[in-house]
Parts: sequence; structure tokens; C-alpha cells
Amino acid sequence: MGATSPLRVIHAVCSHDCPDSCAVLVTVNAEGRAVKVQGDPTHPVTQGFLCGKVAKYLDRVYAPERILYPLRRKPGVPKGPLTRGREHEAFERVSWDEALDAITARLKNISDEHGSESILPYSYAGTIGVLGYGSMDRRFFHRMGASRLDRTICSEAGGTAWNLVYGKKLGMTPEDFRLAKLIVAWGANIHGNNVHLWPMIEQARRNGARLIVIDPYRTRTAALADWHIAIRPGTDAALALGMMHVILRDGLEDRAYIARMTHGVEQLAERVGDYTPERVAAWTGMTAAEVEQLAREYATTQPTALRMNYGVQRSENGGTAARAIAMLPALTGAWKHRGGGAQLSTSGGFAWNKQDLERPDLQKASPLGRRARLVNMSTLGHALTELGTNAEDGPRVHALFVYNSNPGAVAPNQNAVRRGLARQDLFTVVHELFFTDTTDYADYVLPATTFLEHSDVQGAYGHYFVQLSKQAIEPLGEARPNVWLFSQLAQRMGFTEDCFRDTPEEMMRQALGMRGCGRSKNVGMHHITFEELEEHGRVPLDFHRDPEKHPFHPNASGRVPTPTGKIEFYSEELAAEGLDPLPAFTPPAESRWGEAAARYPLEFLSRKADNYMNSTFAHLEGHRKMEARTNGFLEMHAEDAKRRGIAEGDAVRVFNDRGSLQLTAHVNGSLPAGVVAARLDWAKLHPDSANVNALTSERLTDLGGGATFYSTLVEVARA
Ligand code: SF4
Repeated sequence: MGATSPLRVIHAVCSHDCPDSCAVLVTVNAEGRAVKVQGDPTHPVTQGFLCGKVAKYLDRVYAPERILYPLRRKPGVPKGPLTRGREHEAFERVSWDEALDAITARLKNISDEHGSESILPYSYAGTIGVLGYGSMDRRFFHRMGASRLDRTICSEAGGTAWNLVYGKKLGMTPEDFRLAKLIVAWGANIHGNNVHLWPMIEQARRNGARLIVIDPYRTRTAALADWHIAIRPGTDAALALGMMHVILRDGLEDRAYIARMTHGVEQLAERVGDYTPERVAAWTGMTAAEVEQLAREYATTQPTALRMNYGVQRSENGGTAARAIAMLPALTGAWKHRGGGAQLSTSGGFAWNKQDLERPDLQKASPLGRRARLVNMSTLGHALTELGTNAEDGPRVHALFVYNSNPGAVAPNQNAVRRGLARQDLFTVVHELFFTDTTDYADYVLPATTFLEHSDVQGAYGHYFVQLSKQAIEPLGEARPNVWLFSQLAQRMGFTEDCFRDTPEEMMRQALGMRGCGRSKNVGMHHITFEELEEHGRVPLDFHRDPEKHPFHPNASGRVPTPTGKIEFYSEELAAEGLDPLPAFTPPAESRWGEAAARYPLEFLSRKADNYMNSTFAHLEGHRKMEARTNGFLEMHAEDAKRRGIAEGDAVRVFNDRGSLQLTAHVNGSLPAGVVAARLDWAKLHPDSANVNALTSERLTDLGGGATFYSTLVEVARA
């Protein structure tokens, strides 16, 4: 805008849980109102556009139903589902002072009476800004001696798996996908949830590349592929092992690369000997010829880029599946070629100074005087209903503090979660933007800010730029960001450590490792100054500063940060723990091969919407219209529908031992026979106040203790 323009343009960063971390230009008018959001055209990955969900972001920021003041549950109103649009009737407005004083007093009492570990924070990636995701909140709960939360719900199994093979979550740059001749999207709905990689793929395809999509569901990306391979849920490990069988059997591996860069190929070769294309076909639903064709095409085309996303690892054997898939480019030497390799995440490139930011040392000053117990967020139902019934568990959870998350909608085994949330002796605080499935159970609801209303610094898990997100507008009403909230609570608790008075800018400098000097001390960030970030909005990590002259080429040569210094097919670390050091396929207990299949024969996929971010955006009318195709539907194969006497449009009940859900049958070609799917939504938007997580279990993944949303068996009947 010109010097006389009443409009200002502010550089912000989309903080939603998405690999793209887009650079967002926010236009603000003279009254301080944001009037436009657009993608930064100068950012090499954002390339001037935003996805459909954030292009409409001002609908969310200025939504009339935003919570703008602290609220307290009215006396006598029971906890539980509230009528949508009338939730406010259950609460009364209070001032921030009243809310903060009351919450502090209650947390102190609970800590004194039951022990500090009876307080449980619950948060995830409702914002992935570095401060918003985890900073002052961590300091506060550490100092208090609250239980620590094991944040496993999304990516832990895959991250653990990747690190077993490569030591660090580094992968191809998204920009280099343009150079590939074959792109394999494995459990990756790029067009829906990583849309800024799509132009790179289109460019590669214009230059003759093929796109293969491996996904049980016909996603938008699968529909656009040259070859869509719809394997059965939870059989990814079998397919990857079968591909390795063919590659090694036929001598298609890159022996020179393997000798130079990897560890344990002999043991791997012995292991994959059993995974013949015929056996793999029987598990995956492919033909043996297709397994052969996929393996050959993958091994004989270079450069080949593999995009694996986290859906792969949300089944019982998901850690092993991600680990086996991650080994493929090491077997074929794809990493050697520019435009080849793989990407699960780029987050390992960002060395944030978490020690300063989160201050785990404050636990020593807590009433516990030691590290607090760890509670797995993927078993929240268990934590709220059963934890503490055995003496060795430690205390029951008596206070739950929720921010950056909506566990009433997104946590598995929803009925157990709700039983826990409904406990009258559980004190629940929720920091939120809207009334959700979780606020229906809150004692206090505190108004939160969007990324337009606070400043933060951010990395990404789909590119290699550090970015500064500047506050574009004043917080609406009395909304306040996480840093402010936990700083205020800490001061009321009487915590005297200076860190509780740090400003957001001081904390951003700490995150960047800038204490006492103008430049970062963090690995890969030495060249970054705060001033440069303020001026340009972004700075690439050091290895990505000159991609044309010095392209970042991970795993092409040199040492790898694993215990052996090599890419590990065989893990000495797992062997030392008495675990299987090699990947193997074990069918999930909740799959067509498990005992429960006799009663619940259908494999159920609880899908994410292309136009929501997990449960975020799901209540906004414009976003719901974009998802109209699957709103309230159970998608099923014609064979499965016919066997049950179900026709298109019938009301159906989907159920298992954990719960049931009423939906409308949509008989289409999106899934293989034996698999049904429904989309994650807010429970309160369903007539029976339940969503797909009424059906999912709290069973954990084989690596990393993650959630197993995609290992779920159900039966379906006409309602
Ligand atoms: S959700 Fe992802 S694609 Fe959409 S604007 Fe945010 S970072 Fe970009």
C-alpha cells in the first residue's frame, strides 16, 4: 500500500496444523479491521495462494458466535452436550480477574488435596506457532508439578519410525518434487491437506512424471493420479515389505549406495524373503502382478519422490508401516538424485531452543521436586475414568486444562472421554474460540485469539523457512493468547521466576536462541536475526539459502544421525530392548483378520475433511458447504450395502462395542469392499451427539504410543 493508503498489509503465518505453514498477507483497514487475507506471492512454497479453508479465514475471525469474554458455568447446570447455538445459556460472563482468581484458587486446592499430578494439561496443535504451541504453558505446568502430557495423538508413531531409520525428521524440499519422474503419495492426500506441494507435482507431471497414490480411500489426490492403489487399511507394511522383496529378489537395489550409506541390508533381505507378491496381494487386496509392477516401477525410475503422510501410521502396526516405507528410497538409492528421496516431515530442520522456552527444570521447584508422571493423550478416556484407581498410577485426574485442542471431538473412544469429562468432581477449564464438544463440559471457558490477533514465530513440517507472524489486529472482545493466559495464572499462583514475566518478543528471541546476542545460536539458524525476520517475514534455514547453487540433499552422502551413523534397515537400538530389530507385518487386531471381525466385519476409516483442520472450521457454514458431499454420510461399497439390504440414502447405524453413530448410507466407489468411511465432524452437529470417535479405540500404535484411529472394526445396519 502507498504511504497515504489507509490500508496496511501485515505478514502473518497460518498456524493451523498443516505442513505448508503458509505466509499470509493480512490487509487491515484504518479502523483496525482485517479486510483481506491472501497468500504471499513471494514465498517459494505458498506461491500466492491459500487453501480453501483459510482463504475464508475472516469468516472465522469475525464469526458472530466467537467466544469473546470469560465465562463460568452457571450453578446447577449439569455437564454434557448443550444445544447448538444456545450454549451461552449454560454460562455467565465474568471478568478476567474473577476467572483467573477462581481458577488459581481451585488449582491450588486440588494440588494441596490430591497432589499436583492430579492436574492434567491437554493441548495439541490447534496452533503450531512456536509460542502458542508450547512455551509459557509448559513453564506454568512444570512449575506447578502438573502431570506431563505425552502428545502422541497425531504423529508420534511415524516420527519414531522415521527417526529409527534416519535419526532426524528431514526430507526432500517441497520445491524439489518438481524434478521427480515418479511421485508416490503414500497415505498422502496432497490435494486436500498439503496443497502447496500440488503445483510442484503438476510441474513434474508436465515434464512427464507419473503420480501413484496408495490410499484405501479415493481422495481428491487419488482421483487425479495416474494409478490409484486402494490397499486395505493397515496393510501398508505388508506392501512395503513386498516391494522390498521384489527389489532385492530381482537385483534392483542400488548396491553402491547401500554399501556406503546403510546398515543391515543382509538381515533385511532375509526378512523380506517371506513377503512374496502372492502373500502381499492376499493381505492388501492387490494382485500379485500389481505388487510386482509397483516395485519395479518404483525401483527403476529416477528420480523418485515419495511423499508419505501421517495417515499411514494411525493403525496398530502404523509405526512399523512408516518405518518400512521410509526404507524404500534407501534401498533404491533414490536419495542420490536431486528430485528423489522422501518426505514425511521437515520439522527436524528447526532446532528451537525448547529448554529455554519450556523450562522443564522448573519441575524441580514444584511441590513434586521431580519430573512429573507422563499421561498419554491418546488414552484420555482411560486417564479420566480409570487412572488413579491403582495406587501405583499416582492420583486421579481432578483438574483438566484444555487449550489448542477439542478432545470432546477428536480424542479416540469418545464415550469414555465423555464419561470422564462429565465427572462432577473434575474441574475443567477450556481456552477456546467457539463453543465446542469440549466446552460443553467446562467449568470455565476462556476466550482465545486467532493467529491474526497475536505474534509468533513458526517453522514448518513441509518446508524449510523460519517465519515471523506479526499481530495484524487487536484481539476481539477480551480474547487473549496462550502466553498471556499462562503468564497471568503463574503470577497469581505466586511463581516468582522471571520467566513468567517474559514478553512474547523476548520468548521469540529465546526460541531462536538469541539470548545475549543478535544472532541465533540454534543449529541451522546462526544467520537469522530478529530484525531480518521482521523485515522480510521469513528466512530460510542455512542449508536452504541458495537452493539452486547448493541444493539441500539429505541422505545423499555423509553420516546420518542414527547410532550407527548409517541409514538403519536393522535397528541395534530395538534389538537391545529385546524388540524385533526389523520391520514385519502383523495384521491389526481390529482388522478383517482379527477375532472381533466375526461380530464387526467392516473396517472403518474415520476420515479427515479436506476443508476442515481436524475439528477446526467444522461448524462454519461456508466450510460445511464445501464438504457437503460427505456431510453426515457413511460411505460404503455396493457389495457391503447389498449384503445388508442397504440402499443409497438409507439411514444406517454404525456400531461396535464402544459406541454407535447414526448416518446416511452413501453407496459409492470411494472404498474397497469390506471398508466403510465417515468423516470427523463435531459431535454436536450430529443428531445423536456423537461422531466417528464414538467408534475408535484407545489401543496404541506399535511404536511411539500413538492413536490408532484407522484400526477400527464396525458393523452397519439399517436404522
Ligand atoms: S491450512 Fe495449510 S494450506 Fe491452508 S493456509 Fe494454512 S498452512 Fe496454508
